[in-house]
Amino acid sequence: GQPLNTLSGGESQRLKLVKYLRAGANLKRNTSKSSIPDSGSSLILLDEPTTGLHKHDVKCLLAALQQIVDHGHSLIVIEHNLDVLKSADWIIELGPEAGSKGGRLVFQGSPAACAASAKTETGKYLARELESHQSLLAAENQANYGTKEVNGSSERELRILGAREHNLKNIDVSIPHYSLSVVTGVSGSGKSTLAFDIAFGEGQRRFMESMSPYARQFVEQLPRPDLDQLNGIQPTVAIEQRVTRGSRKSTVATITEVAQYLRLLYSRLGVPHNPDTGEPMLSQSAIELEKRLQSILRKPAVRKSEQLLLCSPVIRNRKGHHQPIANWIANHGYEMMRVDGEIILTEDFEKLDRYREHNIEIVIANLNSIRGAKAKIKSVLQEALLRGKGTALLLDDQEEIVSWLSTHRMDPRTGQALPELDPKDFSFNSSKGWCPTCRGHGRIYPWMREQLDDDELLKKSIGADASDDDESEEIIICPDCRGDRLNRTSRNVFLPLRANRWISLPQLLSLTPRALLNTLDRLKLDTRGKLIATDIVDQIRERLQFMDRVGLEYLSLDRTTQTLSGGEAQRIRLAAQLGSNLAGVLYILDEPSIGLHARDGDRLIDTLKSLRSKGNTLLVVEHDEAMMENADRIIDLGPGAGTQGGELIAEGTLGQLKRNRASLTGKYLKKGITHPIRGHHRKLPSRASDQNSWVELSGTNFRNLKNQSIRFPRERLIMVCGSSGAGKSSLVRDLLGNAAIYAIKAKKSNLSGKLFAKKGKPIEGEEGSILFAQLTGAHQFRSVLEVDQSPIGKTPRSTPATYLGVFDIIRQFFASLPEAKMRGYKPGRFSFNTPHGRCPTCSGAGRVKLEMSFMPDTYISCDKCKGRRYDAEIEDLLWNGKSIADVLKMSFEEAAKFFSFHTQLSGLMQLMVETGLGYIKLGQY
Ligand SMILES: [Zn+2]
Ligand SMILES: [Zn+2]
Repeated sequence: GQPLNTLSGGESQRLKLVKYLRAGANLKRNTSKSSIPDSGSSLILLDEPTTGLHKHDVKCLLAALQQIVDHGHSLIVIEHNLDVLKSADWIIELGPEAGSKGGRLVFQGSPAACAASAKTETGKYLARELESHQSLLAAENQANYGTKEVNGSSERELRILGAREHNLKNIDVSIPHYSLSVVTGVSGSGKSTLAFDIAFGEGQRRFMESMSPYARQFVEQLPRPDLDQLNGIQPTVAIEQRVTRGSRKSTVATITEVAQYLRLLYSRLGVPHNPDTGEPMLSQSAIELEKRLQSILRKPAVRKSEQLLLCSPVIRNRKGHHQPIANWIANHGYEMMRVDGEIILTEDFEKLDRYREHNIEIVIANLNSIRGAKAKIKSVLQEALLRGKGTALLLDDQEEIVSWLSTHRMDPRTGQALPELDPKDFSFNSSKGWCPTCRGHGRIYPWMREQLDDDELLKKSIGADASDDDESEEIIICPDCRGDRLNRTSRNVFLPLRANRWISLPQLLSLTPRALLNTLDRLKLDTRGKLIATDIVDQIRERLQFMDRVGLEYLSLDRTTQTLSGGEAQRIRLAAQLGSNLAGVLYILDEPSIGLHARDGDRLIDTLKSLRSKGNTLLVVEHDEAMMENADRIIDLGPGAGTQGGELIAEGTLGQLKRNRASLTGKYLKKGITHPIRGHHRKLPSRASDQNSWVELSGTNFRNLKNQSIRFPRERLIMVCGSSGAGKSSLVRDLLGNAAIYAIKAKKSNLSGKLFAKKGKPIEGEEGSILFAQLTGAHQFRSVLEVDQSPIGKTPRSTPATYLGVFDIIRQFFASLPEAKMRGYKPGRFSFNTPHGRCPTCSGAGRVKLEMSFMPDTYISCDKCKGRRYDAEIEDLLWNGKSIADVLKMSFEEAAKFFSFHTQLSGLMQLMVETGLGYIKLGQY
């Protein structure tokens, strides 16, 4: 069983780069005679392309990036890797910290200047790095942690014998329990196969086999990894980067489960406020109500009133003729009653319209006659509350309501009572809690808009220009709840804080974990409230206290998970595991250091160590040096990728790896990357004389980027760095990217933030705001391209070969063979997307979906074609002994040789090899 996409995010991203390199190569050829015209160069944005790369692959990738810049493009790369930073022509560093303490430009300039100043985090690292590699060779860390033993257990390690899954070459590996082990090796060497397909896959199988027969029937269908023996497996938890579950609505609060505890807290201790007046709607005891009544009677306006009737409501908005209640009132000796707002003598009552709703109150007493008689007032109030089931009201001589008096939650001015609060009232996934306009999304998406009245929305929407029709296609903040997601009543429920402050659930969720915990420490509660709050707050604390240990303290709780990077999503799960107090678990992690600045990386390692010291085993797929320095054991796979990988090269501590000549990892750890790619940085254009060569973004006002001015040279390799949460993605992808797209479209050499706010594509959450003062020079780009890590396609039909367009050429080639011509096969016949040549069982997908109600969808190989996608007729059409299905099974490296006679094909395949993706198969899912 496999998930849909077996290409990692980083592989998808590099594949996209190759596609672009190909376009760039064509471009250069076409314009080689003249200088490259401005219209030909693009601004290309990349978010951490070295993610998950072995240093050897980083080197390949850097060469590709430099090549793209040589083709005349401008590249902005968000990057942490210092080896990569030092090859930039221009560095932009944001910081100094995360969230509100970040967002400032701490440095911009050349790497040499950055190192020379050595003031910033990056500068310090870079100075050392440029000076010498020696400093990176930290002292060897001997494993002296987590040697806790299970009572009487003879199994001290996980032993995998004879593993042959995928490219693994019959290897034996042991992973000591209660230790931190790192699996490393170049991309495609078999790391994930070992960690996920074997260790995790078998862990899951064994777990499911111990379950019900219903579960077991599926286990039997799951392919067993190819290996001889596996002993000593513990319960296994994989913490991956993919955000598989969760809807558009899921947030940091929901996935950490903090949301459910906060709902409980608000339903038990929240105080509803009147949305119009902002007054708290408190429930009061009879004694408090008596005091309140006395103080009302002392008010000058009330003193003047000639009549003060204390009444008890007995019928509230109920249909019926209500004769029985009138009889009851008469029988109990009450002379007056109030019917639908009118005071009458009880004996004058006539049956009411039974099909309409009515209100009836009993007039208990006229307080004017007993003013000053405290005991008497007390007793009539008690009587009124008894008759009104806890609620009474006071009328003046104009028969206007002076005040409601109630032991229930009620607005004293309007009498609006609230039913008891329920946790569902605070859930934006429940119809009880959600804002009816946006159904809890906080935003109006185009797909929702169809169901709503457009005019109504446009009128209400914030900052929307009613004259601009484009606007209706965009996502806007919900005009009713303004993004709070909850309905009016629920978002007006507050928790009491010290110093007479109040806080609503949406306000609380907009805070970062630490600020939220600090706020909960300032709750103003009575003894009962404290009793209720203690347990709930403890649960919340348990779930949030680890967020800063994994470097996520800057995330607000209402942040949607869709906007999180893979690394952030993984680290949230890691934080949740830290709070879970499990022991004896094998945790498998996929490159948790991704996207972390060196300092945050140290905290992550501490976190993993604390999981280990709780008696757990950690198996981490990782290239990060610091992680390896801290590992108890390193398993180095290699030496190459694909068929050239899958061997166990070395196993041991960092020191042992460095001494092992066969280990590529050891070699890089010892020497660091040398950069033969370019001996020097590109010359920077002069700022004064060469205005057109610079792009400048000034006066930012976006998220934490307050009043910063950033500039960068065109046609250079630019890297943006800084700690996690400093604002790198906000700057590059959200702000600069979108603004540049508009500058190109509008041909504005000088784009004002004002115009962009009005006409540009709104950025989610910032609709209509002015986000920067000015952007100059961006209009000269031909386009803005973002090369992200999303999958290349959503179906099993997207393969690297189809994506790159090489498969079209291969199909044409097969159709041009004499045998194909004789049979009358056109290129379409060789497609696995059209009915004629493909396998009918799987319709050319090669796999079929296995749906299990309690697990994410898995795919298994098609029985009919054995995953080859084609039917028998196409399969027997061969060239050089290979069918088109065989070609799809080739790696790009093999295909480059196979098609060496074909310049166009082999050139494209070679590009993949050079980018370090040669091990990927043409038809890989
Ligand atoms: Zn709403
Ligand atoms: Zn098939």
